[in-house]
Amino acid sequence: MRTLRLSDSGRINVLGVGFDNVTLDSALRLITDHIKTDAGFASVYTPNADIVELCRRDKTGSLYGIFASASLSVPDGIGIVKASRILGTPLSERVAGIELGSKLLERAAEDGIPVYFLGGAEGIAEEAAKRIRLRIPSLNVAGVHHGYFDKSGADSDAVLRLIGESGAKLLLVCFGAPTQEKWIHNNADELANAGVACAIGLGGSFDVWSGKIRRAPRFFRDHGLEWLYRSLSRPSRIGRIASVCRFGCAVIREKRLSRP
Ligand code: UDP
Repeated sequence: MRTLRLSDSGRINVLGVGFDNVTLDSALRLITDHIKTDAGFASVYTPNADIVELCRRDKTGSLYGIFASASLSVPDGIGIVKASRILGTPLSERVAGIELGSKLLERAAEDGIPVYFLGGAEGIAEEAAKRIRLRIPSLNVAGVHHGYFDKSGADSDAVLRLIGESGAKLLLVCFGAPTQEKWIHNNADELANAGVACAIGLGGSFDVWSGKIRRAPRFFRDHGLEWLYRSLSRPSRIGRIASVCRFGCAVIREKRLSRP
């Protein structure tokens, strides 16, 4: 499938991963305008420093291609924004996936766009959708499904069928990165045939919306340290601290190499 781009501003490259230079507001506008014009299928990814590191270490090289295929790529991490400044090609602001997702749901409700919640452990997408509807009662939740199914073959096809039957135009996919981006990329044609106008990867957002986990306290968010809070509060994520440090070193190396 030909990649459809939502922004024509030209991408800013941070260690091989491209980012659209958008703000939260402009990203929202680009996505909702796209859905309303029914102009085909679009994928929205929200990479952070950890994902850039995953791409750099991916021996197959396919991850770079998957992230490059995004219709819209927004910087979900202050590390990416700081790196872009250090490298002399500044991105305007961090666009946190969870905030983009939350605002997107408000716009979807205003515009009558049906939404499908896909991902998380059994019951989590359902609880997230239920709590969101307390805040946005007019939201049209076309369907919900957990994220623990085989991501290829018959199981995946069955989920794609359910999404198609639901009539959803906006699909929130929360399998964590890069599983969600791989699944969206591998099924772009099927999602287009299912009538989905936009699929967005939102990591652990359902866990937060459902109340299963708390977002980082304000102090960490205001100081660009949400990644540190999340890494420290979950032992399985401790390796991400090293990954972010490797990213920082690589940015400084790149800056030195690019000096005339
Ligand atoms: N998950 C899923 N299917 C899978 C693997 C993970 O639905 O096959 C869910 C998991 O339950 C969690 C989310 O994906 O809700 C991953 O959250 P995490 O915070 O680790 O993702 P990140 O924001 O770091 O990408």
